[in-house]
Amino acid sequence: MKKSLFLSYYTTVFALSLLTACSFSHDEQSLITDKRRMALERTNNTAMEEKIEELLAEMTLEEKVGQMMQINNNMFSKEVAKATNPSAPPETLLEIDTTKLIYYLDSFHVGSFLNGIAVPAENWFNYSKQIQEITLRHNRLGIPTIYGVDHMHGANYLEDATIFPHSFNIGATFDTQFAADEAYVIGLETADLGHHWIFAPVLDIGRNPYWPRYYETFSEDPHLAASMGGTYVKMLQNHPQTAPFKQAASAKHYLGYSDPDNGWDRSPATIDDQQLQEFHIPSFKAAVDAGVKTIMINGGEVNGIPVHASYELLTKVLRDQLGFKGVAVTDWEDIIRLHKTHKVAKDMKEATFKAIMAGVDMSMTPYETDFYGALIELVKEKVISMDRINLSVSRILRLKMELGLFENPHPQNTRFERIGRKESKEKAQKAAEESLVLVKNDGILPLNDPKKIVLAGLNANSKKGLAGGWTLRWIPTDESIFPEDMHTVYTALQEVYPNAQVKLSSTNNLKANAVGADAIIIAAGEEPYAETPGNISDLTLDQDQLALIEQAQATGKPVILLMIAGRPRVISEVLDETDAFIWCGLPGFEGGIAIANVIIGQVNPSGKMSFSYPKEAGHWFPYNHKNMDLFFDFEKSVAMTTIASFGYGLSYTNYTYSDLSLSANSLDDEGSITATVTVTNSGEVAGREAVLWYISDEVGTFTRPVKALKHFEKQALAPGESKTFTFKIDAQQHLSYPDKKGKPILEPGDFTLSVGGMSAGFVLE
Ligand code: BGC
Repeated sequence: MKKSLFLSYYTTVFALSLLTACSFSHDEQSLITDKRRMALERTNNTAMEEKIEELLAEMTLEEKVGQMMQINNNMFSKEVAKATNPSAPPETLLEIDTTKLIYYLDSFHVGSFLNGIAVPAENWFNYSKQIQEITLRHNRLGIPTIYGVDHMHGANYLEDATIFPHSFNIGATFDTQFAADEAYVIGLETADLGHHWIFAPVLDIGRNPYWPRYYETFSEDPHLAASMGGTYVKMLQNHPQTAPFKQAASAKHYLGYSDPDNGWDRSPATIDDQQLQEFHIPSFKAAVDAGVKTIMINGGEVNGIPVHASYELLTKVLRDQLGFKGVAVTDWEDIIRLHKTHKVAKDMKEATFKAIMAGVDMSMTPYETDFYGALIELVKEKVISMDRINLSVSRILRLKMELGLFENPHPQNTRFERIGRKESKEKAQKAAEESLVLVKNDGILPLNDPKKIVLAGLNANSKKGLAGGWTLRWIPTDESIFPEDMHTVYTALQEVYPNAQVKLSSTNNLKANAVGADAIIIAAGEEPYAETPGNISDLTLDQDQLALIEQAQATGKPVILLMIAGRPRVISEVLDETDAFIWCGLPGFEGGIAIANVIIGQVNPSGKMSFSYPKEAGHWFPYNHKNMDLFFDFEKSVAMTTIASFGYGLSYTNYTYSDLSLSANSLDDEGSITATVTVTNSGEVAGREAVLWYISDEVGTFTRPVKALKHFEKQALAPGESKTFTFKIDAQQHLSYPDKKGKPILEPGDFTLSVGGMSAGFVLE
């Protein structure tokens, strides 16, 4: 009975999928046939399209399904310790077991591999070369492999590479140049090594601070994340220096991953369709508009349907609404999970059917090969059509061709001097410096001419703490794998204060060490984590660390608190007695020196919060919340709920905003208004100020966020200098918001523009 129901379901959906429709327009409800979709996705590169067609005509079903598979590298290779001087830190290398690799190629025609750890460039070169050579020898049609690596904040899986801050720090810079710099350096350092596919940027929106991947997001704000993400994709995929190689980005994890109901990794999310459209889609839209070649799918469920089984999200929204034409890859074993964890499919075959019919092109299987057998059976039984297979395979072949893999399949070892260049590290340092947010300063900072500084805390002398997850390893636990010349906060303070005594203290000796100190710096935070191992049940900083901070305060010395963590750990109970607080996030390999430079005042802090820092562990919301979230006394309630709202950040100078003016007080739905504001550095120190322009839509059919960032710009200002900042408000672009289907709603009425504490009203006629 069950079986026949299952088959009739197959047949119905299959029949539906054959219905013809005429366009990609998002209000088109009918299903577009796979053939039609394939025709619509053809580019105007005729030679390439002909080659794709020739290959599709030549390839067997088995070869096609093989192209749709991605296998993890540990299935055919292992990590081996390089024989070194026993006292030296063990260096790990990647080594291929050719018999195993050949098994996957001959038996399953596997078209893609992934993953790695930080090994030297020479090792990556030999490894990738061998994989590609063997692939080409074992592929009768000469289709090269495509290799994917999680370089999440710089080339984190390459030894001696430049490591940038994690994305929520990049967001805090409010300068897209740093997203461009990061993508540029990743390309420079890895494009030669056979890293064809970079599994970044993460374009999830950081709306739940419990979520253990919070630090991988650019922001809680859709516009900031979209601006950073779009810039990153454009730079990585159109790199000016990597020829003859090109790399593909992967916008991940589409869609709704980052706001799970219980805060834990991959747990279910309930997000209203209008909210999905307004908050979660814009960053992915920006990536699609920037030409992103691939997306990776969210392994969780949204509104009761796992995204890997959602035709609505993977085809109607992603393809028909957003116009994405590239490759949609699953995340880690997520087709298997449809059956084993989500339990929306009774076996692997049904899971495969659901995922493919929803719109998956490639399965990161990554340890198993059941996908191969299941998909072949489904096609042979005519449950899934060959057209559907051809659609995915054409996308995968086009990706490989667009990256130039047919002409330049092999890596290159002639430009290793590009790795870890001084200029690249300077870019990473600048990004780190501009990402630090001075949240509180009672006047102790910058710390001038101290004789003695006492430093304590979990991340006082930790490299891995500054780097966070996805650095050298998935979760780095061993300090010895980090570069010897990488600074910790401790060594960096010693460097910037050569004439002071910088005393690293344990908790027990803090009181004794504090004698004669000018200040105590506590570097609190978290140990590295990634994904599910980072789940927590209490956002409050752990009791040991809070006790250490209280102990420092009890000495009566000024206390400077640094939070080096992947999410805002709640510290409200110790904040009042803390003299200065710097939110550091995960600033990367140059983070130690960046922090020391801010403490000494060599760098004037200019970072602003890329999210809202909660005051209490059980209550948080983003700055762009609804009016009813805080309906009694707005100002009071904001202070009750956050210690630093999105966009907040102090500096060692003062910026005065004046002369906010609008070119008109009203506009129509095709019109625009130009707003200008003067910003003056009215203090004594040079700085860079990010000017954030918000719009509040005073009345809306769907309840409107209290305000929404629409434009930002960061510029340098010398002491006494004034600059005019401009924002051209375009009715369609800045005043509309999406309905549940993503159709823009533009409603006449009152709007308020705000910038730097000033505001002005205008009317949409
Ligand atoms: C993560 C992805 C990552 C993939 C491959 C998954 O568990 O969710 O972000 O790209 O693994 O390593």
